Amino acid sequence: MPKVFITRPIPDNGIKLLQEKGYYEVVVNEAARDRVATKEEMLRGAHGAHALLSVLTEKIDAEIMDASGGTLKIIANYAVGFDNIDIEAAKARNILVTNTPGVLTNTVAEHTFALMISVARRIAEADRFSRAGMYKAWGPELLLGTDLSGKVLGIVGLGRIGSRVAYHGTKGFDMKVLYYDPNRNEDFEKEFGARYVANVEELLPLCDFVSIHVPLLDSTKHLFNEARLKLMKPTAYLINTSRGPIVDETALANALKNGTIRGAAIDVFENEPEITPVLKELQNIILTPHIASATEETRQAMSKLAAENIIEALEGRVPPNLIK
Ligand code: NAD
Repeated sequence: MPKVFITRPIPDNGIKLLQEKGYYEVVVNEAARDRVATKEEMLRGAHGAHALLSVLTEKIDAEIMDASGGTLKIIANYAVGFDNIDIEAAKARNILVTNTPGVLTNTVAEHTFALMISVARRIAEADRFSRAGMYKAWGPELLLGTDLSGKVLGIVGLGRIGSRVAYHGTKGFDMKVLYYDPNRNEDFEKEFGARYVANVEELLPLCDFVSIHVPLLDSTKHLFNEARLKLMKPTAYLINTSRGPIVDETALANALKNGTIRGAAIDVFENEPEITPVLKELQNIILTPHIASATEETRQAMSKLAAENIIEALEGRVPPNLIK
């Protein structure tokens, strides 16, 4: 029976799909329900495995691939980002790698807006204020925030999620969209009245809100560094639901402290699960623990899609979400 090793427990749609086939040995690393899987668990689980269903907290390197003893055919990542997998090592071993794009696009875009509204309207701060018993009287200048409507939304990375954020921004909040992506999309521009800007440096000074949706690559690490943060308006907000290392967290903390920008809201961190301590002391940043895709519907859909990728690969077909 081909063995499928699932590195941490995930919602059960995909697990059931694999089990119902009746001819896979499905092994879930139950020990890692509330923590990251250990290297030892990974090596043991990978031994003799034909498929790994991995989550983003596990680094899948050559050693883990080789622990299968040559049986491993596919690594199905339970995420759209795949920066936790050594793609070159997988290619060198003819191991397929897949991800779960599309099914989480809207959920991540909604979380992006939840963050944008929360930071602009100071929701977390207002909640802390209320709970601390500080609400003594309604006040004309109490906790003033910023409107989204009519503002300029800059999208960095106009892929699936970036486009959906632009959709919510234009259709839901009357925002004007500017974007930068190495690939220009003129159909999108026509449909959303959006404007293409030739590079990030030109984009940043024009935006009231900047939302990041690029993958983590060598070329995007610290894309938002001190110099680029300084190009933003002092009234602007930065939202990051992509990957933590794309923003230099120390530079961001300084920018928030010095008033280089007004606020930020981030779901991802440079060294997860660590958070640069000073960020936790600032009022003008919202911090969520990498939950942008965390709805029951979406996490089940990701589970099913990851399992479908495994089934297709193990049955000799090209899986739908093959990373090339
Ligand atoms: P996608 O591949 O559809 O879009 C990425 C876009 O970024 C592409 O259009 C690409 O051309 C563009 N891009 C690449 N390099 C760029 C650069 N230097 N500057 C500007 N644009 C650049 O991917 P997606 O499905 O939209 O997902 C985007 C990213 O979001 C993923 O790579 C993942 O890391 C992250 N993500 C995070 C969460 C979360 O839970 N916080 C959930 C899902 C996805």
